[in-house]
Amino acid sequence: MTSLDTPIAAAPKISKRILPALHRLGVKTLRDLLFHFPSRYEEFPEERAITNVATGERATIAGAIQKIAERRTAKGLRMTEATVRDETGSITVIWFNQPFLARTLKEGDVLRLSGKIARGLRGLSLQNPSYEKITRASPAGEARGTHTGGLIAIYPETDGITSRWLRFLIKTYLPLCRSLVDPLPHETRARLNLPEIKDALMHIHFPESQKQAADAEHRFIFEELLLVQLRALRERSRMKQRVAPAIPFDIELIKSFVVSLPFKLTDAQRRAIWEIGRDLARPQPMNRLLEGDVGSGKTVVAAAASLLAVRAGFRVAVMAPTEILARQHYATFDKILAPFHVSIGLRTGSEGKNPGSTDILIGTHALLHPIRSKSPEATADAPQAHLASNGVQKTVVTMENTGLAIIDEQHRFGVSQRAAFLRQEIAPHFLSMTATPIPRTLALTIYGDLDLSLLDEMPKGRKPVITKIISPEKRAEAYRFIRDKVRSGQQVFVICPRIEIAEKKPNDKIRSSRAYQQKLLAGEVKTVTDEYKKLSEFIFPDLRITMLHGRMKPKEKAAAMKLFSERGADILVSTSVIEVGVDVPNATIMMIEGPERFGLAQLHQFRGRVGRGAEQSYCFLFPTEDRMASRRLRAVVDAKNGFELAEYDMAIRGPGDLLGDRQWGEPGLILKGITDARLVHAVRDEAIALAQQSPDLAQYPALAKRLAALEKTLHLE
Ligand code: ADP
Ligand code: MG
Repeated sequence: MTSLDTPIAAAPKISKRILPALHRLGVKTLRDLLFHFPSRYEEFPEERAITNVATGERATIAGAIQKIAERRTAKGLRMTEATVRDETGSITVIWFNQPFLARTLKEGDVLRLSGKIARGLRGLSLQNPSYEKITRASPAGEARGTHTGGLIAIYPETDGITSRWLRFLIKTYLPLCRSLVDPLPHETRARLNLPEIKDALMHIHFPESQKQAADAEHRFIFEELLLVQLRALRERSRMKQRVAPAIPFDIELIKSFVVSLPFKLTDAQRRAIWEIGRDLARPQPMNRLLEGDVGSGKTVVAAAASLLAVRAGFRVAVMAPTEILARQHYATFDKILAPFHVSIGLRTGSEGKNPGSTDILIGTHALLHPIRSKSPEATADAPQAHLASNGVQKTVVTMENTGLAIIDEQHRFGVSQRAAFLRQEIAPHFLSMTATPIPRTLALTIYGDLDLSLLDEMPKGRKPVITKIISPEKRAEAYRFIRDKVRSGQQVFVICPRIEIAEKKPNDKIRSSRAYQQKLLAGEVKTVTDEYKKLSEFIFPDLRITMLHGRMKPKEKAAAMKLFSERGADILVSTSVIEVGVDVPNATIMMIEGPERFGLAQLHQFRGRVGRGAEQSYCFLFPTEDRMASRRLRAVVDAKNGFELAEYDMAIRGPGDLLGDRQWGEPGLILKGITDARLVHAVRDEAIALAQQSPDLAQYPALAKRLAALEKTLHLE
């Protein structure tokens, strides 16, 4: 029997031909089909008699087909032409390139048609209208149809399936929703005036008014946010029940750390260290986000926290999103903690430096993954002593006794990374760091009650980076300026975007495919090598130039970075790999080619690579000619800090970038809801109320089931 759980491949009426397209949309079962929501609605005009329509207007008419035929135009286009008549007159209807129409539509069929009226050689005509067959002969009656008349749902589409098809399939299977149990408790719906799930499904696909559609969508947004919120609360209460090591706040130790630094801490840094120190002293795991603009000095704060943990006899794990960054943290920690005789290890996918029994272990995801000696990559980089005889080392980096886990640029990590640390008996304290300003509503939604430390102050003496958009005529002048700066001993970053690769609307599956990523890399390598060639052969043949791109081996990347940071090269041509965190204070110029291809937050990150020393720094944006006047780029020039830009970015592009690649249930709906602070707070209140009423949600089995499903997908991630 057909049910919501029936795979679409097994459902009658779904032709095999469109299965791949549905799969690309993530639709695997009939349930998925009904929960594939429209992205917008089109409003069709009310039905009218044919004599009453006029050239140039949009109109809906209905009538019988008098004749229909397919032919080719002079230019070779296939064209289906029909004459449609109602009681008042007739009109010519033309469709281009839809040859199947001449087979599906026959003389005598009654159609409703909606589209723009044009004047042709033989009177009025409708070109490529939406249409549907109806079962009556007179134009009055039935108020609205599936595809014409009233509000029509337009769906996110992919090649091989149209909104028309989706509407048809959804209408066919919508009656199955009768078996759905509403996950939202009755009281919640009543209190907040939310429609019941069956009505909401009906209304989101086939609304009678904009309001009905909006109310239905609101209900689903509410449900998704509620689930995320309940999950956050649950995780939070689980964390509170966990025991973490109480790490004493050794004030004398921190004092001596502070005086050992080559600079004076900002007040914001002091405050953050204080807040973290207080949390560490408690026997429950800390869960704190350290948020500060690029260059605000988060690393020292992390080092101070690490020192406290190490002195109390615990290990510290520091995870960074890229190898370059991990290596850099390693160097920084090594330098600033040198006076305190702390042993520091590095563990990335390609390298291990004393990863044995170190106090602080720094690395990428590789910190968490078992090494298999069989794989050639692993043999090259695995700490040999650690390999068990069966070739698989069980707990690679023994997380045992880790008292503090620090995660840099945390929005790039999934939930599962944290789960890996939580496997140990005594949970570590967590410190996440990010330069991405996460608006409070977003933080609340994603993390529930996350504790926040803000570095809202830059180290003293920093001069704001001068940012300029350079027009093509000014390019030569900019090059001269750069050469002068290099001659006086300063260094330059050049960032290139990837070249676009031909790929029709890549969907998530294509994007994550190896072939696609190889193509991306190829595009990246091509632009970087082209730029490198151009600069080293024609523009700056007298300067020392090196390059960095994603296809280089980790060792080569490290070598290029090292060369540049030790002033062995004047110019580093790179792709976005240097985006996060790289610290080369002597670099004062950031040149960005094709800046319109990057997100604003990302451009700000690039700019944050300069302006770290005492010299005045510059960021030059070289847009392609036709993008000179872009408002987005002006925003980068004008914004004083990352927060302003993040808000601007969120306003024009939605919070997608802030969420990173993580899946939080139904991302589309969550993104729509998250910018609405009132909604976020209402959801939160409701989540707290429900959790209080019934901590394990036993009273609300349908909701508990949805939550369990969400937690399962997050864990599989
Ligand atoms: P981010 O917050 O972007 O991670 P970093 O921790 O990399 O910033 O710090 C940026 C630079 O500023 C580093 O070179 C660091 O040594 C320096 N720095 C950090 N704190 C201060 C301070 N209080 N005064 C001066 N320089 C500082
Ligand atoms: Mg950093």
